[in-house]
Amino acid sequence: MTPLQWPRYLRHLCIILLLSLTLGALIGYPLEVVCIVLAILAIYHVLQLARFEQWLRDEKEQPPPDLHGYLNVLLDKVYYFQRRERKAQATLRNLLKRAQKSANALSDGYLTLDRNDHLEWWNVAAGQMLGLQHPTDVGQPLVQLLRDPDFIRYFHDEEAKKPIRIRNPINDRMHLELELTRYGNSEKLLHIQDITQLIHLEQVRTDFIANVSHELRTPLTVLKGYVEILENFADALPPAMSKGLRTMEDQVHRMQNLIEDLFTLTRLEDASAKAQEVEIDLGKLLKEIAEEARVIARDKGIRVTVAEKACFNLLGDPKQIRSALMNLVSNAVNYTNANGHIQITCEQSQDDNAVTIRDNGIGIDAAHIGRLTERFYRVDPSRSTATGGTGLGLAIVKHVLLRHNARLKITSKLGEGSQFSCLFPAARVIAAPQEAADLSKL
Ligand code: ADP
Repeated sequence: MTPLQWPRYLRHLCIILLLSLTLGALIGYPLEVVCIVLAILAIYHVLQLARFEQWLRDEKEQPPPDLHGYLNVLLDKVYYFQRRERKAQATLRNLLKRAQKSANALSDGYLTLDRNDHLEWWNVAAGQMLGLQHPTDVGQPLVQLLRDPDFIRYFHDEEAKKPIRIRNPINDRMHLELELTRYGNSEKLLHIQDITQLIHLEQVRTDFIANVSHELRTPLTVLKGYVEILENFADALPPAMSKGLRTMEDQVHRMQNLIEDLFTLTRLEDASAKAQEVEIDLGKLLKEIAEEARVIARDKGIRVTVAEKACFNLLGDPKQIRSALMNLVSNAVNYTNANGHIQITCEQSQDDNAVTIRDNGIGIDAAHIGRLTERFYRVDPSRSTATGGTGLGLAIVKHVLLRHNARLKITSKLGEGSQFSCLFPAARVIAAPQEAADLSKL
């Protein structure tokens, strides 16, 4: 580190003053000479400062003026810091340019919003996808440019975890997936992906499965009809053939279930197919389901009970809700041993509105629970096949619940039983009949 310079310049000043005092004493005017010298020094320094100021104001790009004395030391320092800052700025500008260049080369769109949700910056892809104009749209509120109601709901929902899919508001043939990331001081980054191709492929796959299952329905019905006719002559057939006939009947039945489930699943996946939205009397529906379950559970001596407490009413598609709950109940029957117990309950708490199907059956190991709603996932394939299961039941339940903004909660213990709860959001719940009756009394 260079030593401090001010003591040296103070020494110089003292010497000048001393010399002027001596000179003044020699000619008989010591004070006057000192004053004149001080005035000259002051004027000299003001002139130097003026050049310094001028340079600071106008000539930043130029090398500093050639000043003398103490001021020159300060000027050198200022010049050094200035050059260092200029260099840092140039590096930063370069970095920014490179970052923008690479962001513009991306096929996905990116845009940033300031803390007031106004557009700050976007890359070329985002500009093209959303039709943004530079610089007119800088500073515009994003929700005024992207007015899709689903997006606006997603944008304001700080809890939202999954990206949202919408049709592009400026080109409805284009599908977009938008993912918002919050960072820093309430700033936001929006990632925009063109998923038109993906949606098209999903549609092709869904249509294919729907068509195949539809086409297979008729030949299977014919086959089933003939198998049933042949069944009438089973007594006349040799034992090996009548056994084969029974197997054929079982397999035809299985294939019919499989096709029906596949068809249901593809219809549920089809986003364009609108579900019904009516008030469902859940209490009544649960009683009907319990009745049906008792019929299939009779042979195994399984008891099916449904809670007497009044249940809430639900806004949704009655057919879909019935099919989901029936799937859960028939699973409970299939995976509960003889003389078991199945309970159907309806519970409402501050956080949840739940319909729960509880059994004391074989239970499920924790390792399988996360995968149960995958298509064709079975814990024990042989047992599932033996019960006539298609491996699609819980996938159907999951999709029905998704369509109703609800979720499935599974808890189970191997050997002790399972509990499947359908948790519905408050927005889907209509006052329970009991509450409604109470209100009408007021
Ligand atoms: P499946 O038609 O095979 O029953 P599901 O999708 O309905 O297909 O169920 C997937 C798997 O989850 C089943 O194969 C079974 O292993 C397990 N499972 C479903 N419900 C229960 C239950 N109540 N108790 C025990 N295991 C169950």
